[in-house]
Amino acid sequence: MHTRNLVLDPAHVDPPASAASAVSPHHVSPSPLHSQSLAHRDLRRDEFWRTIPGYAAVTAAEFGDHRWQNKHTVTNVRQLRDTLGSAVPESFYADIEAGIAAAPMALRISPYLLALVDWRDALADPIRTQFLPLRSQQQPDHPMLRFDSLNEREDSPVPGLTHRYPDKALFLPQPSCPVYCRFCTRSYAVGTDTEVVEKMKLSASTTRWEEAFAYIESQPQLEDIVISGGDTYNLSPAHIEAIGRRLLSMPNIRRLRYATKGLCVLPQKMLTDDAWLDALTRVVELGRSLHKDVVVHSHFNHANEITGFTEDALGRMTERGIHVRCQTVLQRGVNDTADAMTLLVRRLSFINVHAYYVYVHDMVPGVEDLRTPLHVAQALERHVRGATAGFNTPFFTLDAPGGGGKRDVHSADYYSRETGVSVFTSPSVKPGKKFLFFDPVASLGSEAQWRWTQPAERRAMMDEALSAV
Ligand SMILES: *Cc1c(COP(=O)(O)O)cnc(C)c1O
Ligand code: SF4
Repeated sequence: MHTRNLVLDPAHVDPPASAASAVSPHHVSPSPLHSQSLAHRDLRRDEFWRTIPGYAAVTAAEFGDHRWQNKHTVTNVRQLRDTLGSAVPESFYADIEAGIAAAPMALRISPYLLALVDWRDALADPIRTQFLPLRSQQQPDHPMLRFDSLNEREDSPVPGLTHRYPDKALFLPQPSCPVYCRFCTRSYAVGTDTEVVEKMKLSASTTRWEEAFAYIESQPQLEDIVISGGDTYNLSPAHIEAIGRRLLSMPNIRRLRYATKGLCVLPQKMLTDDAWLDALTRVVELGRSLHKDVVVHSHFNHANEITGFTEDALGRMTERGIHVRCQTVLQRGVNDTADAMTLLVRRLSFINVHAYYVYVHDMVPGVEDLRTPLHVAQALERHVRGATAGFNTPFFTLDAPGGGGKRDVHSADYYSRETGVSVFTSPSVKPGKKFLFFDPVASLGSEAQWRWTQPAERRAMMDEALSAV
């Protein structure tokens, strides 16, 4: 079922069309993989969960109910063992236990996602890879990695509000999510404390919210607020509506986005939690009546995360005029092939989700095995563009470490494939500053790998990059 064999190495990517091939007839003929395959429409509607020992007796009505999903969410290895039993070898549990001990994020996964893992091939499965860390796959962090690599706390005028760009800001109302992704960029604040990270405390306190609202009101240039995560799925209907109404009432605010991973983790909520969907719908309708834009930003990383449940959930949202966009994180072994990324983007299009961004993986701790070099993102972008409508084609972006903001992956001012160092500038966000990004050390040649172990060599590689810009 998985198409991981086409690992995206530049050698496997077609060269850019040359002038000669641009006029040859084969240029316009559809390539068998991208234009004729309708695999993106094959959405699972079987009772796939029944192959999991712990879910063998679960009915479609139970599995399709968000309350059942919430109640059976797996948050520790004991529950995982109770659910999967002998579907995986005993050594797998020890590997996960050790992986969690070294991970920045606690364990939390819905039965729905657990059941979508192909447990016969658990080591390589793209959903397992994202949510269940294995000690045997973890790699040492890059020597230049820092906690909160995006510097969000430094750009925060009020705790839980990041204001980095002139007209938009990021509001974090509370710290929990319906799932914990082991690659979370906000592992400094999101989730419960783990053995390696004590989190910044961002409680769902209306006093703290009011401080954030007062700041937003005091900044006339702010027009756009991202209500993010934590995850807006974990806000009550009353809070969804209170936050939406308060922000829409400000004359300066023109655009709101509610960010949630929930559509990927628990699409059932859109089908059985009417109070929540109704609250969101009222905010969207209020926005429309004020001629303001209210949308949902979701987060899917692999086509296997999209099923008949997702299609039905999106159907309900589409009926209510709720627009949904998607932000994807590029991850090694999950979606770093042309096939995997193209299938994801076309499947998103098919269910009316606009693919908005594909992010190069941030430099966050404990997930070095998931990062890809910059050149993989550049090659993938060339492949994906053209696979579907332009407005459903994601923008491949790198959020420059140190607060440089989002940059086009093709816009590096300098990039050495040999040392893995790239330099970005960001004139509209931090004029005059240079931002460095580093490919994973394991993706480099042996000499460069050695150089990264030597502090003097590290300095030399960075100086070389900075002086070239
Ligand atoms: C990503 C981000 C935004 C929103 O940026 P868009 O490019 O408009 O999606 C706003 N504030 C911060 C701090 C962000 O990281
Ligand atoms: S849902 Fe988003 S905020 Fe929550 S853990 Fe995953 S990546 Fe982090």
